[in-house]
Amino acid sequence: MPYDIIVIGGGPAGLSAAVQARARARSVLVVGARPEDIPLWKAERVENYLGLPGLSGRELLERFDAHAAAMGIERKYGRALNVMPDGDGFFVGVESEVETASAVVLATGIAHGGKYPGEAEHLGRGVSYCATCDGGLYRGRPVAVVGQSADAPAEAVYLRNLGCRPTYVARERPADLPADIPFVQGTRLEILGDGPVSALNVDGTDIPCTCVFLLRPSMAPAELVYGLELDGPHIVVDRDMAASIPGVFAAGDCTGGPYQVSKAVGEGLIAGHRAAAYVDRLRKAVPRDG
Ligand SMILES: Cc1cc2nc3c(=O)[nH]c(=O)nc-3n(C[C@H](O)[C@H](O)[C@H](O)COP(=O)(O)OP(=O)(O)OC[C@H]3O[C@@H](n4cnc5c(N)ncnc54)[C@H](O)[C@@H]3O)c2cc1C
Repeated sequence: MPYDIIVIGGGPAGLSAAVQARARARSVLVVGARPEDIPLWKAERVENYLGLPGLSGRELLERFDAHAAAMGIERKYGRALNVMPDGDGFFVGVESEVETASAVVLATGIAHGGKYPGEAEHLGRGVSYCATCDGGLYRGRPVAVVGQSADAPAEAVYLRNLGCRPTYVARERPADLPADIPFVQGTRLEILGDGPVSALNVDGTDIPCTCVFLLRPSMAPAELVYGLELDGPHIVVDRDMAASIPGVFAAGDCTGGPYQVSKAVGEGLIAGHRAAAYVDRLRKAVPRDG
């Protein structure tokens, strides 16, 4: 396995898990959205994080990032799209690439908002979560980009450069969306099509398209890992932050409230520590040289 541990989510829980696992000499990759997509980035002041009161959310995240970088933790910015068990490890699909590890820590925060009407029915038939993976299928054709993540404008540009004809749909026009990409403001969305996708309905108006790229900063755990035991939207864990699938650990908001930085960092510590111990046990059971 190229990595001992892959951590999904670069917020407080994910970085805490990564730092702990690195401290135990494990190789760690953190897959996560860009910092601007981490909810804490928007906090004006955080007054209740022990020892560092009064920092903005952004300042706190920058400190966490700097700590992780100083520990030699590798980062990959992008969406993890799926986690699949494979023998003694896991395949993790990240956009159009695949990474492998012996253990996985889920630190994905809370996925806000449910699925859009028509989303589940059209998955693989014109609904995509990854422009890099599927853009090539829609060259020369109209597509809709539902932009909810910080990197979505860049993904729309990527699709345009590929030869697709994107229309960008969001609550408000992002400052970095080029003027030549049409923009539609809207919030109530429905994906339409008898068979493959034929249009995206935005607040009552149909936008004809052959694919809807739903670019969200996070994914619900159930979509990420098949068969994971959940309690509502939260991942069920034990005191070791172990989830229901051996080798999968979880920490932070994704395991339940209170939704607070201190709780996320504390759970991240346990998850990183226990994931490292899990990898140690695997190594003893299966010597590397066979
Ligand atoms: C405006 C605001 C103010 C707040 N103020 C405070 C405060 O004062 N004090 C306090 O203690 N807490 C505060 N919080 C709450 C705090 O931000 C959260 O509890 C904390 O960030 C949770 O950390 P986490 O690592 O579990 O999840 P998050 O910080 O949500 O990080 C999870 C990350 O994983 C990413 N992700 C999800 N799925 C995927 C995927 N499939 N692939 C790649 N990346 C993925 C998400 O995009 C996100 O960046 C505040 C939150 C907000 C929004």
